[in-house]
Amino acid sequence: MRDSDQAQKQKSPCSTGNIPVPEFITCRKCGAEAELWTDEEETLCPGCNHKVFKRESTVH
Ligand SMILES: [Zn+2]
Repeated sequence: MRDSDQAQKQKSPCSTGNIPVPEFITCRKCGAEAELWTDEEETLCPGCNHKVFKRESTVH
């Protein structure tokens, strides 16, 4: 009796792609900190439900 060879098929748990991480964006309206993941572009402020964008653009 002999063991059959086992094909070593290992996938690294950490893919080399972009891994989203949470960032804290200060709401411009109420000053609360909203959690925004790096793969998202906008989120809702927990304080005032105002839309918080990752990049402050069109601020004029
Ligand atoms: Zn707010």
